[in-house]
Amino acid sequence: MGVQIESLFTAALGLQAPWTVERVELDTAKHRIDFEVACTSQRLACPHCGAADQPIHDRNRRSWRHLDFFQYEAWLHADVPRVGCMSCGKTSQTPVPWAREGSGFTLLFEALALTMCQGLPVRQAAQMLRVRDKQLWRRIEHYVAQARTKQDMSKVRLVGIDETSLKRGQDYISVVHDLDAKRLLFATPGREHSTVEQFAVDLGEHGGERTAIAHACIDMSAAYAKGITASLPNAQISYDRFHVVALANKAMDKVRNAEWATESQRVREELGELDARERRSILWAMRRNPSGWSYRQTQAMHWLQRANLKTARAWRLKMGLREVFAHARSHNDATMAANDLRRWISWARRSRLEPFKQLGATLKQHFEGVVRGMLDHRSNAFVEAMNGLLQQAKRAARGFRTATNFIAIAYLRLGKLTHLPASPFVRAAPQGAH
Ligand SMILES: [Zn+2]
Repeated sequence: MGVQIESLFTAALGLQAPWTVERVELDTAKHRIDFEVACTSQRLACPHCGAADQPIHDRNRRSWRHLDFFQYEAWLHADVPRVGCMSCGKTSQTPVPWAREGSGFTLLFEALALTMCQGLPVRQAAQMLRVRDKQLWRRIEHYVAQARTKQDMSKVRLVGIDETSLKRGQDYISVVHDLDAKRLLFATPGREHSTVEQFAVDLGEHGGERTAIAHACIDMSAAYAKGITASLPNAQISYDRFHVVALANKAMDKVRNAEWATESQRVREELGELDARERRSILWAMRRNPSGWSYRQTQAMHWLQRANLKTARAWRLKMGLREVFAHARSHNDATMAANDLRRWISWARRSRLEPFKQLGATLKQHFEGVVRGMLDHRSNAFVEAMNGLLQQAKRAARGFRTATNFIAIAYLRLGKLTHLPASPFVRAAPQGAH
């Protein structure tokens, strides 16, 4: 290739003196394009002490994977000089402007990989980039850790604390969300009261104040409540709708499972014309909003609502609690919300359904926090949305689901980290744009 091609690629790679593209080799059979980059200078500044104009001691051969060129895999190669410094006496490798020290990827390639991992499962991103998953995980961890040290938490006032598990029922991880900025602030293995203290320390390291946290939205586990009292002294606790409704769903499932297991004959009689398949569709319909019912579910629920079954009463109680929350959202009045909730608790306690009697007692015990949660629009929808995003993050870590990997990918996707490398395909503002 001619001289012009080399200077074209020198410019396209953003290289500046003393670096220049010396040779370009395109191998169409191997689907590769290789760029030989050279450092033309014979003397360089010492990378260690900064002394100018020092002699080059030797050169080390290095290679970097770069963004594809059309359909060709692109590689940069260079003999990277080591400076033998006369001033400090050290021999040190000069940094290259296109890559981090020790990385076999160029900065742009890393930025692309990171961008892809925000939207794709890591395994899939690795396949598309034709690299090993491990190479991506290492970079995610590096860049997330680096970006996190620069995160500003000084304005955090409202937090939501929640737990999630990597495997059903085990390997718990606590997550703390910023409910105003809608971002993940902190994630760590465990769900003890000391977890809240760990968050408070991390908050302090990012310019935040534990005493400035005015509000914490949590589930009803005692550990977080205890931790908040100890570590976030000014935070009012509220229990969010998502978790309360989840408890009602659980109570409902318990009633149904018990009744269908022990009185299956009567259940079948009460549900009259329904066949086994239709009866099964009730299981899903009960957890859904009626607006989301399929035709079969609508038919089945029609029968359930007329049946003299504990399951039917349990479903009405669950729907009743949903109503109480929906009502509170529309009137936004604390007194009305408290009255509605009190009425529901008394209904639950008279229901003769043990799981609902227990739920009624739990809600009574946490009454003020539950009412606060009913009126708290900032947190409710968000906690629910975050839960969905965390599930996606888990899927993104499929096959590599360790706590470390999950936490790294969760920060990458939900942390709104402002100091990550930008995608190489985001265009700089065009000239003359306004
Ligand atoms: Zn030196």
